[in-house]
Amino acid sequence: MKSATLAILRCPFCGGRLELVESSFHRIDADSGEIAEAILGCYCCVFPVVAGIPVMHLDPAAAAAREAIEAGLPEHAARRLFALDDEAQAARFEEMAASPAATFRDLVDALGPAFEGGYFLYRFSDPTYVVADAVVRAVAGTVLREGGRAIDVCGGSGHLTRSLLDLSSPAPVLADLSFAKLWLARRFTAPGCEPVCCDGNAPLPFAKDAFGLVVCSDAFHYIWTKRLLAAETMRVAAGRGAVVVTHAHNAHVWSPSAGMPLPPEAYRELFDEMAPRLFAESVLLNEIVAGGPLDLASNHAPDVLDADPALTIVAARRADVCRAYTLDTPAAARGEFRVNPLYDIERDGGRTRLRLRFPSPDYAEEYGAAARLYLHDEVPVDAGTLASLPANRLPAGLADLARRRIILDLPKQWW
Ligand SMILES: [Zn+2]
Repeated sequence: MKSATLAILRCPFCGGRLELVESSFHRIDADSGEIAEAILGCYCCVFPVVAGIPVMHLDPAAAAAREAIEAGLPEHAARRLFALDDEAQAARFEEMAASPAATFRDLVDALGPAFEGGYFLYRFSDPTYVVADAVVRAVAGTVLREGGRAIDVCGGSGHLTRSLLDLSSPAPVLADLSFAKLWLARRFTAPGCEPVCCDGNAPLPFAKDAFGLVVCSDAFHYIWTKRLLAAETMRVAAGRGAVVVTHAHNAHVWSPSAGMPLPPEAYRELFDEMAPRLFAESVLLNEIVAGGPLDLASNHAPDVLDADPALTIVAARRADVCRAYTLDTPAAARGEFRVNPLYDIERDGGRTRLRLRFPSPDYAEEYGAAARLYLHDEVPVDAGTLASLPANRLPAGLADLARRRIILDLPKQWW
C-alpha cells in the first residue's frame, strides 16, 4: 500500500487514524517505496498489512495473519488470508504466483474449489457488468471531471474498479472482505488500484468525504447491515460526490442468488438524504444494447421498478449527474482486445465462426436470457481479422463485435 493511503484510512471501530507501528516487524518495498508488510495501529486496535494490502477487520484469519506479521512470518500471514490451509495446495499456489507467466485463470484454479472464482473470468460480458460499467463510467465522468477518487465497495476481484482506473485520481480504492480477490485484482484486473481488505457489514475504514464517487455493485443485497452500509457510503462520499449502487436485487422478483433483497422503496429510503434516483436494470441494458443514449435523467416509473429483478441507484447532491449520456466503444485497449472467453472459435473449411457456450447451466439460467440480447449464439467472422488478435487497438471491422461484447478489452494474461 502507498504510505499516502494512511491519510484516508480510519479504524472501523474507534474512527482513529492509522500509523505504522515502527517497533513491530515491517518491510518497505525498495523499488516502489510502498508498505509491503507492517502493523498499523490506532487508539484501539492493531491491523496487519500483508502483501501490500491493509487488513482492516478482526476475523480469525486476520487475527492469525496479524500474529504472523508480528512474528516476522509474512508468508504464513498470506497463507491464512488466502485460506490455503492445505500445505500442498499452498505450495502449488505460491509456485504459480511466483511465475510471471501465470494467468488470472491459472491462479483462480490454484486457489482451489473452495474459492468461488470461476465465473469472474466471464464477468466482462455479464449483463450485470455491462450496465454497471456504463453507469459508473457515465457518473464518474461527471463527478470526477475535476479530480477526485473513486472507491469500489465490496468490489470483489476488481472488474468495476478497472472501469474507474482512468477516471479516478488518485487511483481508485478497491474494498472487499476477500483478500484473495483483492490480490488478484491488483495483479490482473485493476493494476494500480489501492486494495483494502474490510467488511461491508462494519463501518468503512475510511475518512469522511474521502471519495468523489462511491460504487457498490452486485453486493448490497448480500449485506445484512444495509442501513449502516448506506450511511457509510454517504459519509465517505464528498459533498459534491455521488453514490452509485448497481445490480441491487429487488425483493419483489425471484432471483436464483437473491441474498437479502429490499423492495425499491426501501432502497430509496436508505439513500434519501442524497436525492436518489432509481432505475430498472433491464431498461438501462436495452438502452446500452441499442447503442445509447443511457438515460439517467429521471426515476423509472414505480411499476417498471417493481417488475425488474435488479435496480440501479444513483444518489448525488448535484443535478448535473442525472442526465442522458452518449456511449462510446474505446478503440484503444486498457488491456488487449480478445475474443470473449464465452465463445469457441470454429473453423469449417474456409469459414470461421464464433459459437457461444455458457460455462454451466447455472450461469445460463442467471445471465443467459439478458446476455443473448447482444451475445448471439453463432457469429461469422473474418479469419484474417481474427488472426490480428490479441491487439492493443481495435482492428477495423471488429467495432460492431466489440460493441456487442463478443470482442472484449480484457486484462493482460487473463486466461
Ligand atoms: Zn481503533
